[in-house]
Amino acid sequence: ADDPQKILRRVFGFSSFRGLQEAVVEQVCAGGHALVVMPTGSGKSLCYQIPAIARPGTAIVVSPLIALMQDQVAALRELGVRAATLNSAQDAELSRQAIRAMQQEELDLLYVAPERLLMDSFLELLDNCRLSLFAIDEAHCISEWGHDFRPEYHRLGLLAERFPAIPRVALTATADAPTRRDIIDRLALHDGRDFLGGFDRPNIRYGVQPKTTARRQLLDFVKAQGGEAGIVYCLSRARTEEVASWLTDQGISALPYHAGLAPEVRARHQERFLKEPGLTIAATIAFGMGIDKPDVRFVAHLDPPRSLEAYYQETGRAGRDGLPAETLLLFGMQDIAQQRRMIEESNAPDARKRLEHRKLDALLGYAETTRCRRQVLLDYFGDSCEACGNCDTCLSPPQTFDGTVAAQKALST
Ligand code: ADP
Ligand code: MG
Ligand code: ZN
Repeated sequence: ADDPQKILRRVFGFSSFRGLQEAVVEQVCAGGHALVVMPTGSGKSLCYQIPAIARPGTAIVVSPLIALMQDQVAALRELGVRAATLNSAQDAELSRQAIRAMQQEELDLLYVAPERLLMDSFLELLDNCRLSLFAIDEAHCISEWGHDFRPEYHRLGLLAERFPAIPRVALTATADAPTRRDIIDRLALHDGRDFLGGFDRPNIRYGVQPKTTARRQLLDFVKAQGGEAGIVYCLSRARTEEVASWLTDQGISALPYHAGLAPEVRARHQERFLKEPGLTIAATIAFGMGIDKPDVRFVAHLDPPRSLEAYYQETGRAGRDGLPAETLLLFGMQDIAQQRRMIEESNAPDARKRLEHRKLDALLGYAETTRCRRQVLLDYFGDSCEACGNCDTCLSPPQTFDGTVAAQKALST
């Protein structure tokens, strides 16, 4: 087998590993299990692709999206890596070729959808093949506690029973502690190592204000951005429309975006946001997935997000180009009380409700902290940093109320 550094350079053409990549590659090459939680764009693929090439046998890669698998396979083949995919969209001859290559130990990576992998006939086939590892991409899909549960991921737990000696690598961009624990339990990664990191986005400035005048606060913030492009997240569809038209009245070019708009209107607003400089979009959480605009300069939350995970993802749409970007969370206790009521009134099982409350507690903790906000945020994802100097609490430390002095004064009068 080749050494990982050589593969990195010769096959992928990169001079050095990034962040935690090297440590993960080492763990998996040695035959260990791993849970890898690193943000989008940080290079999770190499964490299993290099071990797949270095170790004898075929790596089975589970991924939820056919288009994504096809892109990855095409990119790998371009580099001369022996990779293939099995999916319902391709013709039978291609599938037969891929399977033959695997049986003859001439395939390094095979990408499959989970439902395909879990078919009895396919599992029986795998029993007789030499396997280097299982990589479970978008591993948060296995957890009902994650933000994108997929039933077809649920049964992946059987890999541990059926192929106990084959390393399992689970990868995801977002998983807080409960979701991570759930992934570890379901895929039986207890003997493995966790790799978490790279969550810091130093160019993003974090700021929170207690919600008072709301719209006025929002307007001041947007105006201070000097006509740059940004996103204002709102809880309801109606509110995105109100806010967009109100901002427009105040001289800020703004458009609404939510799932209830006609598809062509939605597409047009998205298109304009991507192409025209300096537009503000007032949106529900329907906006953002798959939006890759590098120069979003600000993200404001007029209503609080549901969790710190959601907050991290939504604010993370700012400053993808690495240039300074600002965020504002307008935080009202009434909003939180309303979200608590919604949790209570839902039909979810009690355990789920408790978890939702805990997620809300974490958001509350973040909003009310007097510590560096970035530290609180990174802590939540198991990552860490020094006090950042680029969040509101670092830049203007909140006045701490001295209880002793106040109490003494109260007693002495
Ligand atoms: P993720 O799955 O974490 O979102 P990818 O694996 O798709 O990220 O990688 C994101 C980009 O980073 C890709 O274009 C990849 O080629 C590049 N990349 C990954 N590792 C390195 C590295 N060590 N050096 C330079 N570029 C890298
Ligand atoms: Mg990826
Ligand atoms: Zn800070």
